[in-house]
Amino acid sequence: MKPRINLKPKGEHKVRDGHLWVFSNEIAAVDGNPVNGDMVEVYNSNGYLIGEGFYNKNSLIAVRLIDKNPLNDIYVLLQNRIKKAYSLRKMFYPNRNSFRMVFGEGDFLPGLIIDKYNKTFVLQINSSGMEINIDNIVKILKDDFNAANIFTKNEFNFRKLECLPETDSVYLGNADEEIIDDGTIKFKIDFAKSQKTGFYFDQCDNREFIEKISAGKTFLDAFSNSGGFGLHAAKAGASKITFVDSSSAEVNNAKVNFQLNNFEIKSEFETVDVFDYLNKCISTNRKFDVVSVDPPAFAKNKKSLPVAKKGYEKLNRLAFQVVSDGGYLVTSSCSQNLTKADFIDIIETAARKTKKVIQQIHYNAASFDHPQIPVMPETTYLKFLVLRVFENGNL
Ligand code: SAH
Repeated sequence: MKPRINLKPKGEHKVRDGHLWVFSNEIAAVDGNPVNGDMVEVYNSNGYLIGEGFYNKNSLIAVRLIDKNPLNDIYVLLQNRIKKAYSLRKMFYPNRNSFRMVFGEGDFLPGLIIDKYNKTFVLQINSSGMEINIDNIVKILKDDFNAANIFTKNEFNFRKLECLPETDSVYLGNADEEIIDDGTIKFKIDFAKSQKTGFYFDQCDNREFIEKISAGKTFLDAFSNSGGFGLHAAKAGASKITFVDSSSAEVNNAKVNFQLNNFEIKSEFETVDVFDYLNKCISTNRKFDVVSVDPPAFAKNKKSLPVAKKGYEKLNRLAFQVVSDGGYLVTSSCSQNLTKADFIDIIETAARKTKKVIQQIHYNAASFDHPQIPVMPETTYLKFLVLRVFENGNL
């Protein structure tokens, strides 16, 4: 008999509607002494079985549901879901071998991220249920996906919430380097020296989009990381690209990638704080035809949202002032706590305060390899907005 979780009425509607989390304060009773990571049965307040999931007594997310039906074989379930997630990516990216292959809850695999870099698979394990199943996951990647390298690059703040050890492991091969192809551009990924799992796949579709507006333009890639946006602008035939990031390791990665793709256009690489860089451009009246700002999440949690909103407004006020008349601002936010409506409102305020007239050209979220669950706002985070920018009265 599996341990049993009985819900209070207030938790069961969310689960019925497809949300995959049960919070600890939505539980009326726990029967059977489950330990962290155990599979538990979840019952509604009328005593009906409504799902099964991974239990964690230390986390606010006490159960992460994995199925509505009784579960027979976790290996087969994980294998089917991972294969389904992979086939979705291959439908959208038939010519790519590198993408986010599993996006946790978004692929009905709570707490499991798998980024595929050719035959290298980089994992983030964010739930105790997935931690317990690591051998199953490694076996699936070896047997069904011909993995050569498997290792974790965990985000320790998520693991802390689940009381998981703040460690990384290599399960197969090594954790050295890969050269990936995101469709048309090559990127060298040095896993030891890169942020997150090595690459920001979530902006892949959006980087492709900016090719449409970059031919013949001067392009500022602010918060460039390994050069994603600027390299796509180069491919589209931009006249000059300026890469700016405060991390010297990432500026170096951008340089390596620029050379790897044999671009023969003008380029600048600046290791500097973006706010300082934009202020300097404003004071010297330097402008760019296209400006991309893709900062790290300013709002890491709900509490920091008011300060984060001010930060986004300030950044975008500075960015607007360095866009040439009739040029483009490409602005992103990856703060999960900031809604799309609030983000657009902030951008609108920044435009008004800098006396710009704006036209919205395009809006998108993360790429197709980051599916969202509509009833789980927790699976939606990236906002990507492209605006044409005019001086007031200069239409
Ligand atoms: N645009 C990138 C992803 C950006 S991630 C891509 O397409 O891949 C955010 C980047 O901002 C990181 O590389 C980080 O080093 C950099 N960063 C964070 N704070 C910064 C600051 N104040 N000034 C400049 N860069 C900063």
